[in-house]
Amino acid sequence: MIKKAITTLKVLQTLQNNIRLKTLELQRIQKKKFKILLNHAYQNVPFYRRLFESVGMSPEDIKNYEDISKIPITTKLQFQKAEEEAIARNIDIWAEHKTSGSTGIRLSLFFSMEDALYNRGTYERARIENGLRILQDVLLYIGNPSIIPNGKKWYEHFRVRRKEGLNVFEPLEVQIKKLEKVKPDALWGYPSGIKLIATAIEEKTIKGISPRLIFTASELLDPQTRNLINSVFNVDLIDAYVAEEGGCMAWECSKHEGYHMNMDTVLMEFVDENGNRVGAGRKGKVVITNLQSYAMPIIRYELGDYAIPTYRECSCGRPGYLIKSIEGRCDDFIKLSDNKSISPRVVVPIIESVPGVSEFQLVQEKVDEIVVYIVKKKEYRDTQIIGGINKEFKKIFGNHISVDTKIVENISRERSGKLRSVISRI
Ligand SMILES: [Zn+2]
Repeated sequence: MIKKAITTLKVLQTLQNNIRLKTLELQRIQKKKFKILLNHAYQNVPFYRRLFESVGMSPEDIKNYEDISKIPITTKLQFQKAEEEAIARNIDIWAEHKTSGSTGIRLSLFFSMEDALYNRGTYERARIENGLRILQDVLLYIGNPSIIPNGKKWYEHFRVRRKEGLNVFEPLEVQIKKLEKVKPDALWGYPSGIKLIATAIEEKTIKGISPRLIFTASELLDPQTRNLINSVFNVDLIDAYVAEEGGCMAWECSKHEGYHMNMDTVLMEFVDENGNRVGAGRKGKVVITNLQSYAMPIIRYELGDYAIPTYRECSCGRPGYLIKSIEGRCDDFIKLSDNKSISPRVVVPIIESVPGVSEFQLVQEKVDEIVVYIVKKKEYRDTQIIGGINKEFKKIFGNHISVDTKIVENISRERSGKLRSVISRI
């Protein structure tokens, strides 16, 4: 317990110091940490030793940033096949997490104590920088039962890092009751979960739930959902880009100019279909190196998302470059017959703009067939909504894709509690 407390303090202090540095200094830290991790992986992890040997290289061949792209990109499937070969032989395992497995593949990730505390620390920093007071505030997580704190930690009795949890699979009334009881200062959850609560509060004019801060993560946040949450709770919502494999990798500040990359804990690259880095403003696949992943090094790992980098700093003065936007899972881009694809970022606001839509899920079953499942707001007629969706989709797809709209009672969440708004099964 003491070792954990000391390591936590050390990690948080390092992270808070780093956020006061200059971008150039962060880049130096990034480069140094990358080199150390690479050497460690080569020496102690059979999976990486083989990977390097397969392309006839060793860590000494990586001399500058450009050389990094010589290292083959790794995938979830490769890690799954590698099993314990992907784990460092010389590090004590302290924790194991499973990825949420949106695409069906669940991967076990292993952490040393420091790895895990850095991972948590990246979330903490994003919240602290956006106004969370760890010595005072109650933070309430909204998610699946596994993220709900199991009893109180000793420090919470001293009003430090107080946490509560809310299960998204519970009926909405139960969630509202808990919120009324806990009166959290801050919320952290999926946009879809917080949106449902916001809608209920708006419809039933519930008073007394007034968190000062709201953070969302893990799903695409569309402008309508952001506006709804902001107006119901009278907050300035902060969105974060997170993954089990990389912790909290990037986050917004109150300027909302993009997402601050945590350049001291993760090296993010954005590449095209051929693995070449894309320029600023261009969409690329996200490839990450978790610079604090010693037990199971995550190096040049393809996360399965698209994002748009900027290589530009934020006007808030914090160091590091911004990501312009997170575009969603690569799998969930709608595929067209001419090999083009359409981002969920384009489709989601269109459905959201149709009056009467409460929740929805769009599923592309075939290249020329889409089904949109809609949970409607009570006061709207089915025909109104179906007509609205068809009209909007005609504008983007013309007659190339048939759209079938179905009104349903609810849309089931994934095991993680996430709601996937767009699923392409092609
Ligand atoms: Zn900023």
